[in-house]
Amino acid sequence: MTQRPTRILVDLDAIAHNLRAIRAHAGVPVMAIVKANAYGHGLVPVALHLQAQGVDQLGVAFLEEGITLREAGIKVPILVLGGIFGPQAAQFIAHDLEITVSSLDKLRQVEDAARGLGRKATIHLKIDTGMERIGVHSYSCGPFIEAAVASPWCTIKGIYSHLACADDPGSEMTALQVERFGEACTHFERLGAPMPLRHLANSGGVLHFPDTWLDIVRPGILLYGVLPDPLSQATVDVRAALSLVSQVVYFKVVKAGHPVSYGATWAPEHDTRVVTVPIGYGDGWPRALSSRGEVLVRGRRHRIVGRICMDQFMVDIGQDSAWNEDEVVLVGRQGDASITAEAVAQAAGTIPYEILTGLNQRIPRVYRGG
Ligand SMILES: *Cc1c(COP(=O)(O)O)cnc(C)c1O
Repeated sequence: MTQRPTRILVDLDAIAHNLRAIRAHAGVPVMAIVKANAYGHGLVPVALHLQAQGVDQLGVAFLEEGITLREAGIKVPILVLGGIFGPQAAQFIAHDLEITVSSLDKLRQVEDAARGLGRKATIHLKIDTGMERIGVHSYSCGPFIEAAVASPWCTIKGIYSHLACADDPGSEMTALQVERFGEACTHFERLGAPMPLRHLANSGGVLHFPDTWLDIVRPGILLYGVLPDPLSQATVDVRAALSLVSQVVYFKVVKAGHPVSYGATWAPEHDTRVVTVPIGYGDGWPRALSSRGEVLVRGRRHRIVGRICMDQFMVDIGQDSAWNEDEVVLVGRQGDASITAEAVAQAAGTIPYEILTGLNQRIPRVYRGG
């Protein structure tokens, strides 16, 4: 089968560079987060590359992502970050996946499954220090930690929490969460139990809050060379790994006043040249970029005009020239110009996470380097 000219180019060397840069910056091991198709970069190829680069551990969101990695031959430890459903517990253990235990009930369910299989479960205790998502509140986690320590069927490998505001270096929430997490960890000392791996830092924590680095860090978006938020500071030298490119499929002149695309929402004031690009919201290219986003053609920045369609959109190139099959860069570099995932997210009124993870399986991934 031929491959669609619209494609995602993934620079594996950039990911390897970012892994090294993050490790050097934080000075602790790295749990590389590869959930959501490795933030759109491709779950299995990225995980295999990270494994070859000696990554310490991987993190995914749910059971099936973990099983996919094991079936692809990934041998490094894998933590499933999301909440576990009791009936899945046996599958976690059977596939050697580390379990996030986020309540006393779930601890019991995991213990039952482990007893049934005659095989211990490896768990990380999830403490809620302010996100109010999953996890036992830090202010009432004593009995939970005590029960886990006492369990003959669970090996406590880690204890962790998630930061709500670390993307913003000025937020005071992170210090509060660090303090609450520290208090939760004191239960191990009180019980005379060995301290497991303590982890807190997402990308924002890695960038801005050394107090969150602890025993291992959990960067996701930063590993792909993208900053989490416009407020974030580039304190680590990372390189963007993903480019999204297509080609001009049509060229036409649109007369002044003749509207372009569905709803006739935009029309040129003067006769202008318009090219059509064969990618749309059906690929995960946000419709919110209608008449707002920009692309690169022949090294120059041009505006998307009219509504983005399911499979195509139009670009006003003014009096510039373009030919069918000319490269169009939606994310990445062309000549001296570049468009970042961060800029696309700002134009679309969202965060770069949603742009990257939204790019779906209709777009082939092409890997370079590695
Ligand atoms: C997704 C996730 C991360 C990684 O977050 P980034 O902001 O992409 O670095 C870390 N920890 C947990 C628990 C997560 O769910």
